[in-house]
Amino acid sequence: MKVSQRAQSVPPSATLAVTNRAKELKAQGKDVVGFGAGEPDFDTPDYIKEAAIKALKDGKTKYTPASGIPELKAAIAKKLETENGLKYAPEQVVVNIGGKHSVYEAMQAVLDPGDEVLLPAPFWVTYPEAAKLAGAVVKIMETDKQNSYKITPAQLKKAVTNKTAMLVLNSPNNPGGFSYTPDELRAMAKALEGTNVCVMSDEIYEKLIYGDTKFVSFASLSEDAYKRTLTLNGLSKTYSMTGWRLGYTAGPVDVIKAMSRLQDHMTSNPVTFAQYAAIAAMGPESPAAIEKMRVEFEKRARYMTDRLRAMKGVECTEPTGAFYCFPDVSAHYGRTIGGVKIAGSDAFAKALLEQANVGVVPGLPFGCDANVRLSFACSMEQITKGLDRMQKWLSAD
Ligand code: PMP
Repeated sequence: MKVSQRAQSVPPSATLAVTNRAKELKAQGKDVVGFGAGEPDFDTPDYIKEAAIKALKDGKTKYTPASGIPELKAAIAKKLETENGLKYAPEQVVVNIGGKHSVYEAMQAVLDPGDEVLLPAPFWVTYPEAAKLAGAVVKIMETDKQNSYKITPAQLKKAVTNKTAMLVLNSPNNPGGFSYTPDELRAMAKALEGTNVCVMSDEIYEKLIYGDTKFVSFASLSEDAYKRTLTLNGLSKTYSMTGWRLGYTAGPVDVIKAMSRLQDHMTSNPVTFAQYAAIAAMGPESPAAIEKMRVEFEKRARYMTDRLRAMKGVECTEPTGAFYCFPDVSAHYGRTIGGVKIAGSDAFAKALLEQANVGVVPGLPFGCDANVRLSFACSMEQITKGLDRMQKWLSAD
């Protein structure tokens, strides 16, 4: 049967490719340490599971309004007001089926064929694909490690043309592990004043921040920023709910209505009992549950950074958010390790997995071939074992 050109143009997810190969090796009996995971290793907190069980028992098993139940939209609006200083009416909120769905639907709702999307590198692999599926043209903005892989306001000002329809901002960042400071974001908001650029602010890692990092929602920075921003978030990372598929978007009512219309015909509502669990997730037990996981991630972030920095030819900025280290390993490119020529991040990741049974994700599909991504969403024991192996592998002659 024929496969559409649209579908053919979408490559498989590079992050899943490594995870799958690591699984294959594990199935063959190899003791693989996987740093590929993009999900917390903690189970969903019990109070959330109990709310879902209660919802099921109460018969919350039927269709709901496609854009989400009013109680959940109200809970999200309240969360955005109290935690993020953002005033959104419930009709300015659409509940999506995971943050990935939010990204796809937001781009479908905002972008026309030929529109340009500014995408700072490194970027999460879904953004360029979702933009292309909306017919848009992706303009990658290069960054460098001296500035912790962040774009600058001057660079942004220069990059905007009359075709620019959207800027993708993701802070804390996957895969970079960096976060923009409130001042940096404020300067970015200023640089966009007078333009027609929509900012898609993906804030899914907002709660996983370390050290003295301060999180601020882009839309809260000014009236102008509020009007041009779609605020995206989800429950996957914050509450360790990746399998529940819950994300949401808040923004100007016309765009949210457009997203809801698309959702009417694409998926209908997010899973009904999961929506009730989401209300509980964001309830009074939320801060303690999040803090427990955050503290653990912070410990691992420090340990992993220190270990990576101690390795030959590895440069690593300390993560200020999310759960990834994104070291520059390009000093090893050109070497031959275990009979394999390390030409770039793909070859590096493949050789490390096959030879030392450590799974990392190549930086190339994230727009940074000098780097690889290591997730610290796994136990300290696994982290120690994997880094021991990586260190040994890198110091081989
Ligand atoms: N945004 C970013 C930056 C992510 O890393 C992810 C998950 N990898 C998502 C959104 C979406 O997550 P989910 O679909 O599970 O909500």
